[in-house]
Amino acid sequence: MGFEDIRKRIEEISKLMNLSEKEIDVLLNFKRIVRKELEVNGKKYLAFRILHNDSLGPGKGGIRFHPEVSEDEVKSLSFWMSLKNSLMGLPFGGAKGGVKVKPKELTKKEIEELSRAYIRSFYEVLGQDKDIPAPDVYTNSEIMGFMLDEFEKIKDSHEFGMITGKPIELGGCKFREEATSKGGFLVLKEFLKFLNIDKSKLKIGVQGFGNVGFNVAKMLYQDGFKIVCVSDSRGGILDENGLNIFEVKKEKEKSGSVVNYKGKKITNQELLESDVDLLILAALENQITEENANRIKANYILELANGPVTSEADEILNKKEVIIIPDILANSGGVVASYFEWVQNRCGNIFEDDYLEKRFENIMINSFKKVYEFSNEKNLNMRTAAYIIAIKRILDAERARGTI
Ligand code: NAD
Repeated sequence: MGFEDIRKRIEEISKLMNLSEKEIDVLLNFKRIVRKELEVNGKKYLAFRILHNDSLGPGKGGIRFHPEVSEDEVKSLSFWMSLKNSLMGLPFGGAKGGVKVKPKELTKKEIEELSRAYIRSFYEVLGQDKDIPAPDVYTNSEIMGFMLDEFEKIKDSHEFGMITGKPIELGGCKFREEATSKGGFLVLKEFLKFLNIDKSKLKIGVQGFGNVGFNVAKMLYQDGFKIVCVSDSRGGILDENGLNIFEVKKEKEKSGSVVNYKGKKITNQELLESDVDLLILAALENQITEENANRIKANYILELANGPVTSEADEILNKKEVIIIPDILANSGGVVASYFEWVQNRCGNIFEDDYLEKRFENIMINSFKKVYEFSNEKNLNMRTAAYIIAIKRILDAERARGTI
C-alpha cells in the first residue's frame, strides 16, 4: 500500500476525530528521511532510513532487504510503526529502513558487507535513544549482530540497545523469533472469546508459511484448531479434513515449498477466495484489493502481514461485514518483544522468562480489549478504532511537548 493510500485513510479518520490542519500535518509529515547509496563489490544499492514521528520516544522499526524497496514503501512502513508503537503503549516513535536489493543473488559475505555498509552510512541517525532498527523481510538476527558490531566499532563503545532482534549472545530476547505469531494467536483467541465462537466450528486458511505464517499455524494446530489450507510463494494446498502443520513443514523443508504436500493443489488466489471462516494473511502487502475483495468468503481476517488489505478492499469488506483484526494490533507482538530486549539491554538486567511471558500476554490482550471495546462503543470497525487510539496518543504527546 502506497503512502497516498494512507493519506486517504488519515483524511477520513481526521474527519471522525475532528483534527486541525496542524494535527493532520504532524501525521502526514516525516521527521527525517535519509537516502544513501551503498556499495558492495562495485555494485550500488539504494538504501533508506525514515523516521516518521518520535514524539513518544526514539524511532523503532525494522530494516528490509528486498528488490521492491522504495521511498514510498519505507514511508508507509514507518508510518505504521508509529501507529503500532503508540497503540501498544510503547515508549517508541515509528521508523523503518530498507535496501533495494535481491538478497538471494548475494553471497553470505556480500550480505554481511551490505549490512555493515548500511551502518556506516546511517550510524549518525541511529542509536538506543534515537532510532532503533530490527529485522524485517529478508533480514535476521545474524544481520542484526553484524550491524551492532559495525556500530560499536564506529562509536568505540558498547550499545546493545541500538538494535533489537539480535542473537541471544549479543543481548537478544529468547522469544522474539515467535513473538509476532504469539501476539496474533493471543489476540485471535481473545477475539473468539468475545464473539463466543467455538473453535471446532472454524475452518482456517493461512497465506504465507514463513516465520510468522508457520508459527501461527503451528500454535493454532497445537491448540486444536482446524487449518484447511496454507500457501507460500509457489502456491498452496487444501485438505477439508485439516492439515497436519508439522508434516507440511517437513515437506517445505525437504522440497522448498508446501505445494508438494499431499492434498489438493490451489493457487494463492484460490486460497484467498477459499471457503474458510477465518483467513490469516501472513505473506505480503496488497493481497486483498478491489479486484478480489468481493470474492472473499471468510467472515474474519487476521492481518499478520503489514498492509495486506488495500483501503479500497477495506471498504468492500466492511460492507460485506467481514471483521478484520488490523495489522497494527494483530502483528505487534514482534515489537513488544523488541521492547523487552531494549529494556534489558539498557538496564543490564535479564528478566525471568515467566515474567516476560506474562507481561507480553497482558500487553497483547489489554490492547485488543481497548480496540475491541472502543470499536463497539463508537460503532467503528476495528481498524478505524485502532487508528484513532494510536493517533490520539501521538497527538497528545505532541501537545505535551508544545509542538501543536
Ligand atoms: P518470511 O520471509 O519468513 O515469510 C514470508 C512467507 O510468505 C514465505 O513463506 C513466502 O513463501 C510467502 N510468500 C511470499 N510471497 C507470497 C505470495 N505471493 N503468496 C503467498 N505467500 C507468499 O517473512 P515473515 O517474517 O514471516 O513476514 C511475513 C509478513 O509479516 C511480512 O509482511 C512482514 O512485514 C510481516 N511482519 C513480520 C514480523 C516478524 O516479526 N517477522 C513482524 C510484523 C510484521
